[in-house]
Amino acid sequence: MSKPKPKDRALPGNDNSGAAKAPRRAAAPRRRRSVYTPAEVHEIFRRFSVQRPEPKGELEHVNAFTLLVAVVLSAQATDAGVNKATRALFKIADTPQKMLALSEEELGRYIRTIGLWRNKAKNVIALSQALIRDHDGKVPDDREELVKLPGVGRKTANVVLNMAFGKHTMAVDTHIFRIGNRIGLAPGKTPEQVEAELVRIIPDEYMRHAHHWLILHGRYVCKARKPDCPACVIADICKSPEKTTSIPAPLVELAPQEIPQAL
Ligand code: SF4
Repeated sequence: MSKPKPKDRALPGNDNSGAAKAPRRAAAPRRRRSVYTPAEVHEIFRRFSVQRPEPKGELEHVNAFTLLVAVVLSAQATDAGVNKATRALFKIADTPQKMLALSEEELGRYIRTIGLWRNKAKNVIALSQALIRDHDGKVPDDREELVKLPGVGRKTANVVLNMAFGKHTMAVDTHIFRIGNRIGLAPGKTPEQVEAELVRIIPDEYMRHAHHWLILHGRYVCKARKPDCPACVIADICKSPEKTTSIPAPLVELAPQEIPQAL
């Protein structure tokens, strides 16, 4: 039997057979793209790289395991608050085995100044057990494996993959989500959409530090309440309707913790 030719097929809404019409499929929402050209994106990150050649994350850690623990503890807490608690903790527990040697109660004594500490202590003990059981006590460099660990979501996994393993991942936090949408660099309704667009547009050579540059830019310059545009080195490129100047701040290298200042 020959296959029906395309024109023989009944098309929804185009037959007189009296059969029930197939419902129209809603069009998939169009993914919003960056409003910047590749050359503009390149220039934005080139300037960030001049301003901070070696940006550092603010969470203190000594290896991949302590980074993972610090990121898990940092949910809904400040980096400074986490550092205060982990400085003493990581001196005695910088591997999953040593962490397990502490009881949940003992661990709690170190981290009880951090919000949600009871739940976080449970997760840190459970993720240490899982690392020993499933990964020979090592932190896996694979997102699918990382998100199986207790207390580890996509954002935490992306931070660890980027910082500990140099992978080209983008952990979208509140600052990066805001910048992506405010200036149209990577518009999206969800962190995943912003993440996908940033990973698509940021040149490879800048992916290693892009996450930190964007966080620092959001924390100190393109701030939530009111962007400090006169202190912004990309003010001439920025296409945000919220910007207050098109004159970029001088492009000079800053000390690690230095906050950019307006002229
Ligand atoms: S010019 Fe203003 S709105 Fe644009 S990125 Fe800089 S601080 Fe943000």
